[in-house]
Amino acid sequence: MGQAIRTTKLPLDFSKRTQGGANTRKRAYLEATVQELDATRTFHVAFFLAHSDKLSERVPYFSEHHQEIRERLISSDKLLTWAEFQTVETHEHPDPLPEWNFNRAFPDFPSVYRRAIIEDAIGKVKSYLSHLSNWQRTGKKKGKPGLPGASNHPTLYQGTFSLELSGTDVQQSFVRLKVYTGQRWVWVNYPVKYNRYFAQRLAEEAWQQQSPKLVLRRKSAELHFSQTRKVKARKVKESKLDPNLVTVAVDLNVKQLAVITARQHGKIIETIFVTDRGFDQHRYRHLKRISKKQWLSGKPIRGEQSNVQLWQHIRRMNKDVAHKTARAIANVCARYPGCVLLFERLRKIKTRGGSKSRRLNRKQANQLRGQINRLSREKAFAQGTVTVEVNPHGTSQYCSRCGAQGQRFSSCGNQRLKARGGKLFCCSACMYEVHADWNASVNVHRSFFSEYHWRPLPKRSG
Ligand SMILES: [Zn+2]
Repeated sequence: MGQAIRTTKLPLDFSKRTQGGANTRKRAYLEATVQELDATRTFHVAFFLAHSDKLSERVPYFSEHHQEIRERLISSDKLLTWAEFQTVETHEHPDPLPEWNFNRAFPDFPSVYRRAIIEDAIGKVKSYLSHLSNWQRTGKKKGKPGLPGASNHPTLYQGTFSLELSGTDVQQSFVRLKVYTGQRWVWVNYPVKYNRYFAQRLAEEAWQQQSPKLVLRRKSAELHFSQTRKVKARKVKESKLDPNLVTVAVDLNVKQLAVITARQHGKIIETIFVTDRGFDQHRYRHLKRISKKQWLSGKPIRGEQSNVQLWQHIRRMNKDVAHKTARAIANVCARYPGCVLLFERLRKIKTRGGSKSRRLNRKQANQLRGQINRLSREKAFAQGTVTVEVNPHGTSQYCSRCGAQGQRFSSCGNQRLKARGGKLFCCSACMYEVHADWNASVNVHRSFFSEYHWRPLPKRSG
């Protein structure tokens, strides 16, 4: 049993007022809210740092399993109650610690937000303390963990937000948020960019919804709904014993982004080529422009970014291509329930040599391959497919038909040019000629089943 996680985003509408967007005052409220929440988080982080011995307190409890009183670390719930008792002024408890009086510092602060913030602060301080003790144990001088920061995207628990979505009228979709105006806490309606896609994702029954987070950016604001799903998947060891097992192997490359092959009973039953449709070339031209601009402007100034929009464009394109390719891979897996997805352990394409723009482009290509790998793992796992990384040694040098070593070449007219980056592969033993990336993809299956070149070596004596 495992758990798959995904995020569904709902953007708030800050477009022009005439086009249904929220007014600018509401935008300012959000900023004030995040600021106020950060301020209270600073308060609580400081409070827990001042009482750090409480965090490591051990409390007795009755263990059902052992039928005796045992000791364990104090739980977060207990800590929360304790912290509220120490800082919050109530009727039953009129005098909290004088220097930590929360009500004085933040009058009328909503209790739901306060609890969320305290839990957040407990997590931050706990992780800081454990990092600190680990660092002290190593005895190194460098790398002392910094004090925990206070900023975080606020989590909206029940009682601080409510969604009012109407499927028929997009104009009538609102989210009600409890926000800080600078003087007091009020409920405010925010228009949202509601869409079919969001409604569909939220309504899917297998996915359990968690409390959303408010992500406030410079120009936009979004609600991020984290959703989890329980996934049942067989262990790879068990799958390997199944004679009808389907394996889906992926070879990631630059121009052929992914060559996907599915194999059952020792035969390749499906092949899909995902090409980049000239994306590599497109990105290269942007990077050429960037490197020319950098050359013209000379030494970069410290702390100042250049070509911001171009880099954003490149990153966005990379992300989009990665998602699409990963979806193509996950779709193949969905066709064979109970299959195993195979990847090579990623090797880097070397970034040395060539012009600067070329080096930059190779670096981007590496990142893209990493993203495709990660995303397709996530997407496949949500459908119950487990991913395995196999030994990549020699996948592109050995013949997938007979297992002998071969060479890559590209054919140019009637001539054959032997080159390492050639598109085709030729086996020197059986003269098998085949698309080089496809050959590599088939070899990934061979590596998984330890055949040919990947057969475990017999133990040599002496
Ligand atoms: Zn061969």
